Amino acid sequence: MNENDTIFGKIIRREIPATIVYEDDDVLGFKDIAPQAPVHVLFIPKNTHIATLDDAKAGDAELIGKLVLAAAEYARREGFEQNGYRVVMNCRGDAGQTVFHIHLHLLAGAPLGRFGTPM
Ligand code: AMP
Repeated sequence: MNENDTIFGKIIRREIPATIVYEDDDVLGFKDIAPQAPVHVLFIPKNTHIATLDDAKAGDAELIGKLVLAAAEYARREGFEQNGYRVVMNCRGDAGQTVFHIHLHLLAGAPLGRFGTPM
């Protein structure tokens, strides 16, 4: 039984297609299907299912750090280290989380609007 019954679990298991742009032992990075910036890549844990950031435990600290560093490495590889970029993790309803397998959004490639304004 695989507990990661989310669309991202299916991407990890290669059951559905994705444009994978980054992979290491722990992290998979793929293009967001509905990009919100010229570059919009999602970084997810490959081997551990954590539904939301609120479900993360102290023992997940290294893995969550790896998501952030994978995004930074990819951004550097693509040449965004000087112009900059944004990383975001949405947690549950008010943040608009729709896929319950933690993921870090990397947004880059243009000046980004401000964020966090209540709708
Ligand atoms: P969130 O709203 O933070 O849960 O982000 C989920 C993201 O996953 C959204 O930006 C979606 O566009 C993206 N998404 C959903 N399904 C897919 C898919 N099959 N391939 C790539 N990105 C996806």
